[in-house]
Amino acid sequence: MPLPKELEDAWKRAEETGQPVEAGRSVVCDSCTKDYTDLPDEGGIVFGSSGYGPCCAPRMLADARKFGEMKYVSAQCPAGTSYADFIRTYRQQHSSTTVRIRKR
Ligand SMILES: [Zn+2]
Repeated sequence: MPLPKELEDAWKRAEETGQPVEAGRSVVCDSCTKDYTDLPDEGGIVFGSSGYGPCCAPRMLADARKFGEMKYVSAQCPAGTSYADFIRTYRQQHSSTTVRIRKR
């Protein structure tokens, strides 16, 4: 699945400058890159410093339980909140509005 245009541009800038970039309001699943920016889907978790949408969170949580890694689950999406809003709120609370770019 292609990244949203906004992230694609940010990614290019980061590759050129080597600097972290603003994520803006874009919200994707860090596992499968599904774009949740404007989706109402609920669920998802923050694991370490990555966000996993409702698509991948159940699998991540099952693995975390199995391997005793629940301590790395930083936050879980509260009921009645979309994954996108959950992540945007989390970023504000943790002042982490930048995205660190990893080479693919
Ligand atoms: Zn996913």
